[in-house]
Amino acid sequence: MIGRHPDSALLVEYASGSLELAPSIAITTHIQFCDQCRRTVESLQAVGGEMLEEAASVPVSDDLLDNVFAHIDSDSSQEQSLSRVQHEVGKVHSENEVLGELASTVPAYIRKFLPAEPLKWRFLSPSLKTATISVGEDVNELSFLKIKAGGKAPVHTHKGTEITVVLKGCFSDEEDLYQPGDFIVRQAGETHQPIAAQNEECICLSVLSAPIQLTGIKSMLNPFLSFAPS
Ligand SMILES: [Zn+2]
Repeated sequence: MIGRHPDSALLVEYASGSLELAPSIAITTHIQFCDQCRRTVESLQAVGGEMLEEAASVPVSDDLLDNVFAHIDSDSSQEQSLSRVQHEVGKVHSENEVLGELASTVPAYIRKFLPAEPLKWRFLSPSLKTATISVGEDVNELSFLKIKAGGKAPVHTHKGTEITVVLKGCFSDEEDLYQPGDFIVRQAGETHQPIAAQNEECICLSVLSAPIQLTGIKSMLNPFLSFAPS
């Protein structure tokens, strides 16, 4: 049962096409699990379409037209980066080679963003590793996270927003237990420590708008984890 959803402001941005690419991928992932949010997005898009039809039949101000064109521009720049990424997906490695053990977990549409080379995993702690995916944007960093069964991620705080979508397995933190499809948003300044369920590793999609910061003793060694929107 999914307990966490994107808020309505985020769904409106997504439905209008004005949301950046990495968070849009996170919402697309969530609505593959969540019928409720998928229907909300469909209704928002239908309303948007009706508004455009009505707008065509009444005189509109220059400002409104500018806004509409700004939206169209941002849509086409997303499409351009999408097609650039698709173009770069050479057939050097098969998808399963790239994904390795993630092959059965990753929603099909995410595959078009994958690099031609196998994902590069790096350990952030003994039980947590991450692989960054380049989607051609310079604001947010998109990555896969994997926590070992029963493993604890380091306690950390955020300088920006962190979106996490659970793909497989479960994790909990001080607040709740999260299951596949859950869409969790942490704001700047919130501190938490995800812990994977004992019986299975947990795989998530993560979108960061700024580096995360470890707290406690580890922060003296590595105050900011590396951060590379791409
Ligand atoms: Zn939902």
